[in-house]
Amino acid sequence: MTEREPRVVIIGAGVAGITTAHVLRERGFTDITVLEKGSDVGGVWYWNHYPGLRCDVPSQIYQFGFAPKPDWQHAWATGAAIQRYHRDVVEQLGLAELIRLDTEVTDAQWDEDRHWAVTTAAGEQLVADFLICATGVLHHPFIPEIPGLADFAGPVVHTARWDDELVTDGRRIAVIGTGSTGVQVVSALQPDAASIDHYVRSAQWILWAPTSVRQFPGVAALLARFPKLHRRLYRLMAFGGSALLTDVTTRPSWRRRAVQAYARACLRIQLRNKDLRAKLQPDYEPLCKRQVVSGTYYRAIRADNADLITEGIAEVTPHGIRTADGTHRDTDVIVLATGFHAHNYMRPMRLQGRDGISIDDAWAKGPRAYQMTAIPGFPNLFTVLGPNSPTGSISLQYTSELTARYIAQWLTKFRTGELTTVEVTDQATTRFNDDVAIAMGPTVWNTGCNSWYLTDGGNVDLWPFDRATMKAMLGSPDPAAFHLS
Ligand code: NAP
Repeated sequence: MTEREPRVVIIGAGVAGITTAHVLRERGFTDITVLEKGSDVGGVWYWNHYPGLRCDVPSQIYQFGFAPKPDWQHAWATGAAIQRYHRDVVEQLGLAELIRLDTEVTDAQWDEDRHWAVTTAAGEQLVADFLICATGVLHHPFIPEIPGLADFAGPVVHTARWDDELVTDGRRIAVIGTGSTGVQVVSALQPDAASIDHYVRSAQWILWAPTSVRQFPGVAALLARFPKLHRRLYRLMAFGGSALLTDVTTRPSWRRRAVQAYARACLRIQLRNKDLRAKLQPDYEPLCKRQVVSGTYYRAIRADNADLITEGIAEVTPHGIRTADGTHRDTDVIVLATGFHAHNYMRPMRLQGRDGISIDDAWAKGPRAYQMTAIPGFPNLFTVLGPNSPTGSISLQYTSELTARYIAQWLTKFRTGELTTVEVTDQATTRFNDDVAIAMGPTVWNTGCNSWYLTDGGNVDLWPFDRATMKAMLGSPDPAAFHLS
Protein backbone atom coordinates (compact mmCIF):
# COMPACT_ATOMS: atom_id res chain seq x y z
CA MET A 1 0.00 0.00 0.00
CA THR A 2 1.33 3.46 -0.85
CA GLU A 3 1.92 5.84 1.96
CA ARG A 4 -0.04 9.06 2.23
CA GLU A 5 1.02 12.04 4.21
CA PRO A 6 -1.54 13.27 6.73
CA ARG A 7 -2.28 16.97 6.57
CA VAL A 8 -2.11 18.13 10.17
CA VAL A 9 -3.32 21.44 11.56
CA ILE A 10 -2.27 22.29 15.10
CA ILE A 11 -4.10 25.15 16.77
CA GLY A 12 -1.92 27.06 19.20
CA ALA A 13 1.83 27.66 19.53
CA GLY A 14 2.22 27.56 23.28
CA VAL A 15 3.83 24.77 25.31
CA ALA A 16 1.46 22.12 23.88
CA GLY A 17 1.57 23.31 20.26
CA ILE A 18 5.35 23.71 20.13
CA THR A 19 5.83 20.27 21.67
CA THR A 20 3.39 18.65 19.25
CA ALA A 21 4.94 20.29 16.20
CA HIS A 22 8.40 19.16 17.32
CA VAL A 23 7.37 15.58 18.11
CA LEU A 24 5.46 15.13 14.85
CA ARG A 25 8.31 16.54 12.80
CA GLU A 26 10.74 14.29 14.62
CA ARG A 27 8.52 11.33 13.69
CA GLY A 28 8.87 12.32 10.02
CA PHE A 29 5.54 14.03 9.39
CA THR A 30 5.99 16.79 6.87
CA ASP A 31 2.60 18.42 6.31
CA ILE A 32 2.18 20.34 9.55
CA THR A 33 0.70 23.80 9.93
CA VAL A 34 0.50 25.52 13.29
CA LEU A 35 -2.04 28.33 13.50
CA GLU A 36 -1.49 30.80 16.33
CA LYS A 37 -3.73 33.76 16.98
CA GLY A 38 -1.10 35.69 18.92
CA SER A 39 1.68 37.70 17.31
CA ASP A 40 4.31 35.47 18.84
CA VAL A 41 4.70 31.95 20.17
CA GLY A 42 4.60 31.05 23.87
CA GLY A 43 0.86 30.89 24.57
CA VAL A 44 0.20 31.88 28.15
CA TRP A 45 3.72 33.36 28.30
CA TYR A 46 2.94 35.56 25.31
CA TRP A 47 -0.43 36.79 26.58
CA ASN A 48 0.67 37.40 30.18
CA HIS A 49 3.18 40.17 30.77
CA TYR A 50 1.91 41.83 33.93
CA PRO A 51 4.43 43.29 36.40
CA GLY A 52 5.92 40.65 38.66
CA LEU A 53 5.10 37.69 36.41
CA ARG A 54 7.35 34.81 37.26
CA CYS A 55 6.95 31.06 37.02
CA ASP A 56 6.28 29.40 40.35
CA VAL A 57 7.97 26.21 39.12
CA PRO A 58 11.81 26.25 39.12
CA SER A 59 13.15 27.02 35.65
CA GLN A 60 15.32 23.91 35.46
CA ILE A 61 12.07 21.93 35.61
CA TYR A 62 9.80 24.28 33.69
CA GLN A 63 11.30 23.61 30.27
CA PHE A 64 10.95 21.22 27.37
CA GLY A 65 12.68 17.87 27.93
CA PHE A 66 13.94 18.11 24.34
CA ALA A 67 15.34 21.62 24.77
CA PRO A 68 16.96 22.00 28.18
CA LYS A 69 18.32 25.47 28.83
CA PRO A 70 21.41 25.68 31.04
CA ASP A 71 21.60 29.44 31.47
CA TRP A 72 18.43 30.58 33.18
CA GLN A 73 19.21 33.80 34.99
CA HIS A 74 16.90 33.06 37.91
CA ALA A 75 16.06 29.87 39.73
CA TRP A 76 12.40 30.83 39.12
CA ALA A 77 12.40 32.54 35.73
CA THR A 78 10.54 35.72 34.88
CA GLY A 79 7.67 35.62 32.41
CA ALA A 80 9.73 37.57 29.86
CA ALA A 81 12.60 35.06 30.08
CA ILE A 82 10.23 32.13 29.57
CA GLN A 83 8.60 33.82 26.58
CA ARG A 84 12.07 34.40 25.05
CA TYR A 85 12.93 30.75 25.69
CA HIS A 86 9.87 29.60 23.72
CA ARG A 87 10.82 31.83 20.80
CA ASP A 88 14.43 30.59 20.91
CA VAL A 89 13.34 26.94 20.99
CA VAL A 90 11.11 27.49 17.97
CA GLU A 91 13.98 29.13 16.07
CA GLN A 92 16.60 26.60 17.11
CA LEU A 93 14.47 23.59 16.21
CA GLY A 94 13.45 25.13 12.89
CA LEU A 95 9.76 25.11 13.80
CA ALA A 96 9.15 28.74 12.84
CA GLU A 97 8.48 27.80 9.21
CA LEU A 98 5.52 25.68 10.32
CA ILE A 99 3.92 28.41 12.42
CA ARG A 100 1.57 31.08 11.14
CA LEU A 101 1.20 33.86 13.68
CA ASP A 102 -1.72 36.30 13.89
CA THR A 103 -3.96 33.57 12.53
CA GLU A 104 -7.02 32.89 14.64
CA VAL A 105 -9.17 29.86 13.96
CA THR A 106 -12.86 30.65 14.32
CA ASP A 107 -14.47 27.46 12.95
CA ALA A 108 -13.56 23.88 12.29
CA GLN A 109 -15.98 21.42 10.79
CA TRP A 110 -15.73 17.70 10.08
CA ASP A 111 -17.07 17.47 6.55
CA GLU A 112 -18.64 14.76 4.39
CA ASP A 113 -15.30 13.99 2.78
CA ARG A 114 -13.94 13.04 6.20
CA HIS A 115 -11.69 16.07 6.49
CA TRP A 116 -11.53 18.96 8.86
CA ALA A 117 -12.44 22.25 7.18
CA VAL A 118 -10.72 24.94 9.20
CA THR A 119 -11.69 28.60 8.86
CA THR A 120 -9.63 31.52 10.12
CA ALA A 121 -10.81 34.94 11.27
CA ALA A 122 -9.51 36.34 7.96
CA GLY A 123 -11.86 33.97 6.12
CA GLU A 124 -9.16 31.63 4.86
CA GLN A 125 -10.04 27.93 4.56
CA LEU A 126 -7.63 25.08 5.25
CA VAL A 127 -8.27 21.37 4.92
CA ALA A 128 -6.75 18.89 7.35
CA ASP A 129 -6.88 15.14 7.85
CA PHE A 130 -6.13 15.66 11.54
CA LEU A 131 -6.89 18.60 13.78
CA ILE A 132 -4.93 19.00 16.99
CA CYS A 133 -6.19 21.52 19.52
CA ALA A 134 -3.33 22.80 21.64
CA THR A 135 -5.30 25.83 22.76
CA GLY A 136 -4.31 26.00 26.42
CA VAL A 137 -6.19 26.07 29.69
CA LEU A 138 -5.68 29.51 31.24
CA HIS A 139 -6.37 31.61 28.24
CA HIS A 140 -9.70 33.45 28.28
CA PRO A 141 -9.66 36.18 30.97
CA PHE A 142 -12.53 36.08 33.43
CA ILE A 143 -13.99 39.56 33.91
CA PRO A 144 -16.29 39.64 36.95
CA GLU A 145 -19.67 41.29 36.69
CA ILE A 146 -19.31 44.03 39.29
CA PRO A 147 -21.93 46.80 39.19
CA GLY A 148 -20.44 50.03 37.86
CA LEU A 149 -17.20 48.50 36.52
CA ALA A 150 -17.88 49.71 32.99
CA ASP A 151 -18.32 53.29 34.23
CA PHE A 152 -15.05 53.54 36.14
CA ALA A 153 -13.30 56.74 35.04
CA GLY A 154 -9.75 55.36 35.14
CA PRO A 155 -8.08 52.39 33.51
CA VAL A 156 -9.31 48.87 34.22
CA VAL A 157 -6.87 46.18 33.17
CA HIS A 158 -7.00 42.39 33.37
CA THR A 159 -3.60 40.95 34.23
CA ALA A 160 -3.69 38.59 31.22
CA ARG A 161 -4.12 41.55 28.86
CA TRP A 162 -1.76 43.97 30.57
CA ASP A 163 -1.25 47.36 28.96
CA ASP A 164 2.50 48.00 28.99
CA GLU A 165 1.84 51.77 28.69
CA LEU A 166 -0.19 51.81 31.90
CA VAL A 167 1.35 54.06 34.55
CA THR A 168 1.00 52.63 38.04
CA ASP A 169 3.83 54.39 39.88
CA GLY A 170 2.48 57.02 42.24
CA ARG A 171 -1.11 55.90 41.62
CA ARG A 172 -3.78 54.57 43.95
CA ILE A 173 -4.22 51.02 42.77
CA ALA A 174 -6.94 48.49 43.49
CA VAL A 175 -6.13 44.84 42.80
CA ILE A 176 -9.04 42.38 42.80
CA GLY A 177 -8.20 38.70 43.22
CA THR A 178 -5.62 36.72 45.12
CA GLY A 179 -4.60 33.70 43.09
CA SER A 180 -0.99 33.26 41.93
CA THR A 181 -1.45 36.29 39.72
CA GLY A 182 -2.94 38.68 42.29
CA VAL A 183 -0.20 37.82 44.77
CA GLN A 184 2.53 38.46 42.20
CA VAL A 185 1.06 41.69 40.89
CA VAL A 186 0.46 43.15 44.37
CA SER A 187 4.05 42.33 45.34
CA ALA A 188 5.36 44.02 42.19
CA LEU A 189 3.21 47.18 42.22
CA GLN A 190 3.23 47.93 45.95
CA PRO A 191 6.71 49.50 46.28
CA ASP A 192 6.05 52.34 43.81
CA ALA A 193 2.31 52.83 44.25
CA ALA A 194 0.85 55.78 46.16
CA SER A 195 -1.38 53.15 47.73
CA ILE A 196 -2.49 49.65 46.95
CA ASP A 197 -5.80 48.10 48.04
CA HIS A 198 -5.91 44.35 47.71
CA TYR A 199 -9.47 43.02 47.50
CA VAL A 200 -9.42 39.44 48.73
CA ARG A 201 -12.63 37.42 48.63
CA SER A 202 -11.16 34.07 49.74
CA ALA A 203 -7.75 34.10 51.35
CA GLN A 204 -5.06 31.82 49.91
CA TRP A 205 -2.40 29.73 51.57
CA ILE A 206 0.91 31.13 50.38
CA LEU A 207 4.03 28.98 50.51
CA TRP A 208 7.23 30.90 51.03
CA ALA A 209 10.04 30.22 48.54
CA PRO A 210 12.99 32.41 47.50
CA THR A 211 11.35 33.08 44.13
CA SER A 212 13.60 35.97 43.09
CA VAL A 213 16.93 34.26 43.75
CA ARG A 214 19.35 33.98 40.81
CA GLN A 215 20.54 30.63 39.48
CA PHE A 216 23.71 29.68 41.34
CA PRO A 217 26.90 30.95 39.69
CA GLY A 218 28.65 28.25 37.69
CA VAL A 219 25.51 26.14 37.18
CA ALA A 220 24.94 27.40 33.62
CA ALA A 221 28.56 26.73 32.59
CA LEU A 222 28.52 23.28 34.18
CA LEU A 223 25.24 22.24 32.55
CA ALA A 224 26.30 23.63 29.16
CA ARG A 225 29.60 21.77 29.39
CA PHE A 226 27.90 18.46 30.23
CA PRO A 227 24.62 18.22 28.29
CA LYS A 228 24.11 14.58 29.24
CA LEU A 229 24.34 15.49 32.91
CA HIS A 230 21.90 18.32 32.27
CA ARG A 231 19.35 15.99 30.66
CA ARG A 232 19.71 13.52 33.49
CA LEU A 233 19.33 16.25 36.07
CA TYR A 234 16.27 17.59 34.29
CA ARG A 235 14.59 14.20 34.31
CA LEU A 236 15.51 13.64 37.93
CA MET A 237 14.09 16.99 39.03
CA ALA A 238 11.04 17.04 36.74
CA PHE A 239 10.05 13.47 37.55
CA GLY A 240 10.94 13.87 41.21
CA GLY A 241 8.90 17.09 41.41
CA SER A 242 5.94 15.44 39.70
CA ALA A 243 6.16 12.42 42.01
CA LEU A 244 6.22 14.63 45.08
CA LEU A 245 3.31 16.79 43.95
CA THR A 246 1.26 13.79 42.86
CA ASP A 247 1.92 12.11 46.17
CA VAL A 248 0.87 15.02 48.37
CA THR A 249 -2.13 16.03 46.30
CA THR A 250 -3.73 12.71 45.40
CA ARG A 251 -3.85 10.85 48.73
CA PRO A 252 -3.77 11.77 52.38
CA SER A 253 -0.46 10.97 54.11
CA TRP A 254 1.97 12.43 56.62
CA ARG A 255 3.78 13.99 53.63
CA ARG A 256 0.65 15.93 52.69
CA ARG A 257 0.23 16.98 56.30
CA ALA A 258 3.88 18.10 56.42
CA VAL A 259 3.46 20.39 53.41
CA GLN A 260 0.22 21.72 54.89
CA ALA A 261 1.99 22.37 58.19
CA TYR A 262 4.63 24.33 56.27
CA ALA A 263 1.88 26.45 54.66
CA ARG A 264 0.39 27.22 58.07
CA ALA A 265 3.83 28.05 59.46
CA CYS A 266 4.49 30.45 56.55
CA LEU A 267 1.41 32.43 57.54
CA ARG A 268 2.15 32.33 61.26
CA ILE A 269 5.81 33.28 61.00
CA GLN A 270 5.48 36.00 58.40
CA LEU A 271 2.40 37.74 59.74
CA ARG A 272 2.84 38.71 63.37
CA ASN A 273 -0.10 41.11 63.29
CA LYS A 274 -3.00 39.02 64.56
CA ASP A 275 -5.75 41.01 62.81
CA LEU A 276 -4.03 40.81 59.45
CA ARG A 277 -3.26 37.14 59.99
CA ALA A 278 -6.86 36.38 60.85
CA LYS A 279 -7.99 38.07 57.63
CA LEU A 280 -5.48 36.09 55.58
CA GLN A 281 -6.27 32.77 57.25
CA PRO A 282 -8.03 30.55 54.68
CA ASP A 283 -10.96 28.42 55.84
CA TYR A 284 -9.97 25.36 53.79
CA GLU A 285 -7.00 22.97 53.67
CA PRO A 286 -3.68 24.09 52.19
CA LEU A 287 -3.15 22.66 48.66
CA CYS A 288 -6.91 22.50 47.96
CA LYS A 289 -6.72 25.41 45.53
CA ARG A 290 -3.81 25.70 43.15
CA GLN A 291 -0.99 26.46 45.60
CA VAL A 292 0.32 30.01 45.57
CA VAL A 293 4.08 30.42 46.05
CA SER A 294 5.63 33.77 46.92
CA GLY A 295 8.63 35.13 48.74
CA THR A 296 7.34 38.69 48.75
CA TYR A 297 3.58 38.97 49.22
CA TYR A 298 3.31 39.05 53.01
CA ARG A 299 5.98 41.75 53.13
CA ALA A 300 4.11 43.79 50.50
CA ILE A 301 0.74 43.57 52.22
CA ARG A 302 2.30 44.63 55.55
CA ALA A 303 3.65 47.84 53.99
CA ASP A 304 2.27 51.22 55.09
CA ASN A 305 0.82 52.00 51.66
CA ALA A 306 -0.96 48.61 51.40
CA ASP A 307 -4.44 47.68 52.59
CA LEU A 308 -6.05 44.28 52.67
CA ILE A 309 -9.80 44.42 52.09
CA THR A 310 -11.81 41.31 52.77
CA GLU A 311 -15.20 43.02 52.82
CA GLY A 312 -17.16 42.12 49.67
CA ILE A 313 -17.23 44.58 46.78
CA ALA A 314 -20.67 46.18 46.41
CA GLU A 315 -19.96 48.39 43.43
CA VAL A 316 -17.39 50.26 41.44
CA THR A 317 -18.04 53.99 41.24
CA PRO A 318 -16.45 56.32 38.65
CA HIS A 319 -13.65 57.11 41.14
CA GLY A 320 -13.30 54.10 43.37
CA ILE A 321 -14.72 50.98 44.94
CA ARG A 322 -17.47 50.71 47.54
CA THR A 323 -17.56 47.65 49.77
CA ALA A 324 -20.60 46.02 51.33
CA ASP A 325 -20.06 47.90 54.63
CA GLY A 326 -20.55 51.20 52.75
CA THR A 327 -16.87 52.26 52.78
CA HIS A 328 -15.72 54.00 49.60
CA ARG A 329 -12.04 53.90 48.63
CA ASP A 330 -10.78 56.26 45.96
CA THR A 331 -8.74 54.61 43.30
CA ASP A 332 -6.98 55.58 40.06
CA VAL A 333 -6.43 52.16 38.48
CA ILE A 334 -8.28 48.85 38.83
CA VAL A 335 -6.34 45.66 38.20
CA LEU A 336 -8.41 42.54 37.68
CA ALA A 337 -6.41 39.51 38.78
CA THR A 338 -9.59 37.49 38.56
CA GLY A 339 -8.37 34.49 36.62
CA PHE A 340 -9.70 32.67 33.61
CA HIS A 341 -12.52 30.68 32.09
CA ALA A 342 -10.40 27.62 32.72
CA HIS A 343 -12.72 25.06 31.11
CA ASN A 344 -13.20 26.71 27.73
CA TYR A 345 -10.33 24.86 26.06
CA MET A 346 -10.77 25.43 22.30
CA ARG A 347 -13.99 27.40 22.70
CA PRO A 348 -15.31 29.97 21.70
CA MET A 349 -14.03 28.46 18.44
CA ARG A 350 -17.01 26.84 16.72
CA LEU A 351 -16.12 23.19 16.47
CA GLN A 352 -18.48 20.85 14.70
CA GLY A 353 -17.88 17.12 14.62
CA ARG A 354 -19.62 14.13 13.11
CA ASP A 355 -23.36 14.52 12.34
CA GLY A 356 -23.12 18.24 12.99
CA ILE A 357 -22.60 17.94 16.77
CA SER A 358 -21.08 21.10 18.24
CA ILE A 359 -18.49 21.07 21.00
CA ASP A 360 -20.83 23.20 23.12
CA ASP A 361 -23.49 20.49 22.90
CA ALA A 362 -21.01 17.67 23.42
CA TRP A 363 -19.70 19.47 26.51
CA ALA A 364 -23.02 20.80 27.79
CA LYS A 365 -22.32 19.11 31.14
CA GLY A 366 -18.66 20.14 31.19
CA PRO A 367 -15.52 19.21 29.28
CA ARG A 368 -15.13 15.49 28.75
CA ALA A 369 -12.38 13.64 26.92
CA TYR A 370 -10.73 10.25 26.86
CA GLN A 371 -7.26 10.29 28.43
CA MET A 372 -7.08 14.10 28.02
CA THR A 373 -6.96 13.85 24.24
CA ALA A 374 -9.88 12.29 22.34
CA ILE A 375 -13.55 13.34 22.23
CA PRO A 376 -16.46 11.15 21.12
CA GLY A 377 -18.20 12.60 18.07
CA PHE A 378 -15.01 14.33 16.90
CA PRO A 379 -13.08 12.00 14.58
CA ASN A 380 -9.43 12.69 13.77
CA LEU A 381 -9.31 15.36 16.43
CA PHE A 382 -7.01 15.33 19.42
CA THR A 383 -6.37 17.75 22.23
CA VAL A 384 -2.99 18.29 23.85
CA LEU A 385 -3.38 19.46 27.46
CA GLY A 386 -7.11 18.91 27.12
CA PRO A 387 -9.63 18.07 29.87
CA ASN A 388 -8.16 16.42 33.01
CA SER A 389 -4.61 17.51 32.22
CA PRO A 390 -2.35 17.48 35.28
CA THR A 391 -2.09 21.23 35.84
CA GLY A 392 -1.90 20.55 39.57
CA SER A 393 0.71 17.83 39.68
CA ILE A 394 2.75 16.67 36.66
CA SER A 395 5.02 18.60 34.28
CA LEU A 396 2.91 19.99 31.44
CA GLN A 397 5.82 19.87 29.02
CA TYR A 398 6.25 16.17 29.75
CA THR A 399 2.50 15.55 29.46
CA SER A 400 2.40 17.37 26.12
CA GLU A 401 5.26 15.26 24.82
CA LEU A 402 3.64 11.97 25.87
CA THR A 403 0.33 13.03 24.31
CA ALA A 404 2.00 14.14 21.08
CA ARG A 405 3.82 10.81 20.81
CA TYR A 406 0.51 9.03 21.36
CA ILE A 407 -1.14 11.08 18.58
CA ALA A 408 1.84 10.37 16.31
CA GLN A 409 1.02 6.67 16.54
CA TRP A 410 -2.46 7.30 15.13
CA LEU A 411 -1.00 9.46 12.38
CA THR A 412 1.37 6.65 11.47
CA LYS A 413 -1.58 4.30 11.07
CA PHE A 414 -3.17 6.84 8.74
CA ARG A 415 0.04 7.20 6.80
CA THR A 416 0.38 3.48 6.25
CA GLY A 417 -3.27 3.19 5.23
CA GLU A 418 -4.38 1.19 8.28
CA LEU A 419 -7.13 3.71 8.89
CA THR A 420 -8.65 6.90 7.53
CA THR A 421 -10.66 7.93 10.54
CA VAL A 422 -10.28 7.34 14.26
CA GLU A 423 -12.87 8.32 16.84
CA VAL A 424 -12.95 7.39 20.50
CA THR A 425 -16.05 5.51 21.66
CA ASP A 426 -18.48 6.99 24.11
CA GLN A 427 -18.16 3.89 26.33
CA ALA A 428 -14.37 4.21 26.63
CA THR A 429 -14.71 7.90 27.45
CA THR A 430 -17.33 7.20 30.12
CA ARG A 431 -15.16 4.45 31.61
CA PHE A 432 -12.16 6.76 31.76
CA ASN A 433 -14.19 9.55 33.34
CA ASP A 434 -15.70 7.15 35.89
CA ASP A 435 -12.19 6.04 36.86
CA VAL A 436 -11.15 9.68 37.18
CA ALA A 437 -14.14 10.44 39.41
CA ILE A 438 -13.31 7.55 41.74
CA ALA A 439 -9.62 8.47 41.91
CA MET A 440 -10.54 12.09 42.61
CA GLY A 441 -12.13 11.08 45.94
CA PRO A 442 -9.08 11.25 48.23
CA THR A 443 -7.39 14.15 46.43
CA VAL A 444 -6.78 17.37 48.29
CA TRP A 445 -8.55 19.27 45.50
CA ASN A 446 -11.73 17.62 46.69
CA THR A 447 -11.57 18.78 50.31
CA GLY A 448 -14.04 21.64 50.08
CA CYS A 449 -12.78 24.81 48.49
CA ASN A 450 -13.81 26.77 45.46
CA SER A 451 -11.13 26.95 42.80
CA TRP A 452 -10.64 27.16 39.05
CA TYR A 453 -9.97 23.43 39.12
CA LEU A 454 -13.74 22.86 39.49
CA THR A 455 -16.06 22.82 36.50
CA ASP A 456 -19.54 24.36 36.68
CA GLY A 457 -20.83 20.85 37.36
CA GLY A 458 -18.50 20.55 40.38
CA ASN A 459 -16.05 18.05 38.85
CA VAL A 460 -12.34 18.48 39.49
CA ASP A 461 -10.80 19.00 36.04
CA LEU A 462 -7.38 17.57 36.89
CA TRP A 463 -5.36 14.36 36.65
CA PRO A 464 -5.76 12.22 39.79
CA PHE A 465 -3.26 9.50 38.74
CA ASP A 466 0.52 9.33 38.87
CA ARG A 467 3.03 9.73 36.06
CA ALA A 468 3.49 6.00 35.55
CA THR A 469 -0.25 5.61 34.96
CA MET A 470 -0.19 8.44 32.46
CA LYS A 471 2.77 6.91 30.68
CA ALA A 472 1.06 3.53 30.51
CA MET A 473 -2.24 5.00 29.27
CA LEU A 474 -0.57 7.03 26.55
CA GLY A 475 2.04 4.40 25.71
CA SER A 476 0.17 2.85 22.83
CA PRO A 477 -3.38 3.37 21.57
CA ASP A 478 -5.99 0.79 22.52
CA PRO A 479 -7.90 0.07 19.30
CA ALA A 480 -10.82 -1.34 21.32
CA ALA A 481 -11.52 2.15 22.63
CA PHE A 482 -11.95 3.59 19.15
CA HIS A 483 -14.13 3.36 16.07
CA LEU A 484 -11.76 2.95 13.15
CA SER A 485 -12.57 3.14 9.48
P1 NAP B 1 -7.29 32.38 40.07
O1 NAP B 1 -6.38 31.49 40.82
O2 NAP B 1 -8.50 31.79 39.44
O3 NAP B 1 -7.70 33.55 41.06
C1 NAP B 1 -8.71 34.44 40.75
C2 NAP B 1 -8.93 35.33 41.94
O4 NAP B 1 -9.93 36.28 41.61
C3 NAP B 1 -9.44 34.58 43.16
O5 NAP B 1 -8.83 35.13 44.30
C4 NAP B 1 -10.95 34.89 43.13
O6 NAP B 1 -11.55 34.83 44.38
C5 NAP B 1 -10.90 36.31 42.65
N1 NAP B 1 -12.16 36.79 42.11
C6 NAP B 1 -12.81 36.38 40.99
N2 NAP B 1 -13.94 37.07 40.83
C7 NAP B 1 -14.02 37.93 41.88
C8 NAP B 1 -14.96 38.90 42.27
N3 NAP B 1 -16.08 39.12 41.58
N4 NAP B 1 -14.71 39.61 43.41
C9 NAP B 1 -13.59 39.38 44.12
N5 NAP B 1 -12.66 38.47 43.79
C10 NAP B 1 -12.89 37.76 42.68
O7 NAP B 1 -6.53 33.16 38.87
P2 NAP B 1 -4.97 33.52 38.72
O8 NAP B 1 -4.43 34.13 39.96
O9 NAP B 1 -4.83 34.27 37.47
O10 NAP B 1 -4.28 32.14 38.62
C11 NAP B 1 -4.76 31.14 37.75
C12 NAP B 1 -3.68 30.12 37.59
O11 NAP B 1 -2.70 30.61 36.69
C13 NAP B 1 -2.89 29.79 38.82
O12 NAP B 1 -3.56 28.98 39.71
C14 NAP B 1 -1.69 29.16 38.21
O13 NAP B 1 -1.96 27.84 37.83
C15 NAP B 1 -1.50 30.01 36.98
N6 NAP B 1 -0.50 31.05 37.25
C16 NAP B 1 0.74 30.65 37.39
C17 NAP B 1 1.70 31.58 37.67
C18 NAP B 1 3.06 31.09 37.82
O14 NAP B 1 3.78 31.65 38.58
N7 NAP B 1 3.45 30.02 37.12
C19 NAP B 1 1.41 32.90 37.82
C20 NAP B 1 0.10 33.29 37.66
C21 NAP B 1 -0.85 32.35 37.38
P3 NAP B 1 -12.22 33.46 44.92
O15 NAP B 1 -11.08 32.55 45.26
O16 NAP B 1 -13.02 33.87 46.07
O17 NAP B 1 -13.04 32.92 43.77
